[in-house]
Amino acid sequence: MKIETRAVHAGRKVDPSTGAVTPPIVLSSTFERDADGKYSRGFGYSREENPNRAMLEQCLTSLEGGKEALAFSSGLAVVTALIQGLEPGDHIIAPEDVYYGLRQVVGQVFGKWKLDISYVDLTDLEALGAAMRPATRLLILETPSNPLMRITDLAAVSAIARKANVITVCDSTFATMMLQRPLELGIDMVMHSTTKYIGGHSDVVGGALITGFDNYLFERCRSSQRHGGAVPSPFDCWLTLRGISTLPLRMRAHSDNAAQVAAFLAAHRAIEAVHYPGLPSHSGHTVAARQMSGFGGMLSAQVRACRNTTMAVAAATRVFTRATSLGGPHSFIEHRASIEGLQSRIPQNLLRMSIGLENPGDLIADLDQALASNVR
Ligand SMILES: *Cc1c(COP(=O)(O)O)cnc(C)c1O
Repeated sequence: MKIETRAVHAGRKVDPSTGAVTPPIVLSSTFERDADGKYSRGFGYSREENPNRAMLEQCLTSLEGGKEALAFSSGLAVVTALIQGLEPGDHIIAPEDVYYGLRQVVGQVFGKWKLDISYVDLTDLEALGAAMRPATRLLILETPSNPLMRITDLAAVSAIARKANVITVCDSTFATMMLQRPLELGIDMVMHSTTKYIGGHSDVVGGALITGFDNYLFERCRSSQRHGGAVPSPFDCWLTLRGISTLPLRMRAHSDNAAQVAAFLAAHRAIEAVHYPGLPSHSGHTVAARQMSGFGGMLSAQVRACRNTTMAVAAATRVFTRATSLGGPHSFIEHRASIEGLQSRIPQNLLRMSIGLENPGDLIADLDQALASNVR
C-alpha cells in the first residue's frame, strides 16, 4: 500500500473490545500475567512495552520502510542512546553544522566520558574520507541541516561509510519519510525528532530511531529505551500517531508554502541570502532534487542589516510567532544565533523560519510589512 494509506492505517486496528476506531490510550503501568506466568498478550510492564508505543513503532517502521523502530521520550534521547551504545575509545563523526543539541549532549551529558568525536563538513566527501579512522564506529548525518539547510549526499556518504564498516544514522527530522528515504539510499538507521513534523502540532516531545537491519547498536538503543527508561508516555505516543495520519498532506502544504515564501524573500531587496534547497541558487539544490521528493517547510534568510535590526524584523511580524522549534501548523520565526547562545556559529543577521500551514499570501504580506518597517 502507498504511504498515504499507511500513514492512516499502519500500526492501528479497530479496538476489538469496544469497536473504537481511534485507538484507546492505555495508561496502565502493568499488565496481567497468565496462569503459567507468561504474558501471552504481549505486555508486562509499560516501561518495557506499552500498546500505544507499539502502535507508534509499527507505524514508524512501515512509513520509513525499515525493519524495526524505537520510540523515545525526545529526539535527543535517541542521540543519548546511540552514544551510550558505543564502547570506550570508539570514534564518532558528526556534521560540522549538526543540530546544536547534539553538541550539548556530547559536551554536558557525556562531558566526563572523553568522547572522541570529529565534526566534519559532510558536503565535502574528501573531508569525510580523511576523518575516518580505524576506531570510527558511528557516522551521524543530518540533511537538510539546521539552519543553513545544507544538503548531504546520502548515497555517496553511505557508500564511503559502508566500505569502512561504520554505522550511519541520518537525522531526517526536517524532511521526514515523506520527502526523503535514507534507508533506500544505503543509510543504516534513521532518527527523527518526532516533536517536529511527525507529531506535527507543537504539542508533544518525542524521538524515534528506525533501523534498516538488525545490528548491535540498535539493540543497545533498545536497552537504553526499555531498561534505561527513555520512554515516551502512552499519551505522547497517541498524540504522535494521531499527527502521523495527516503527515503526507501536511508535508505537501509545508513545502508549497515554503517555496512561495522562499521565492518572495529571494526577490526582496532587504534580503541578502535565502537558504532553501528548493531554490536553484542553493548550493545543495542538485543533490536535494535527486534525493528528496519535496524541499520541505524550513528555510532561513539573512537580512541586509545588523543583529538588532534583524531581531526587530522578527519582532515586527504578526502572523509568525517568535518561537524555537518547527514542524507545527503555526509559522515560527527565530533569531537562531541568540537562541544558541555565545558559542553559536550562526550569522547574526539570520532568521530561521518554520513555514506553517497558514495561507502563504498572509505569510508573505507579514514578512513584507516587517521588512518594510525596519530595513531601508
Ligand atoms: C529538534 C531537533 C532535534 C532534537 O529533538 P528533541 O525532540 O528536541 O529532543 C534533533 N535534531 C533535529 C534536526 C531537530 O530539529
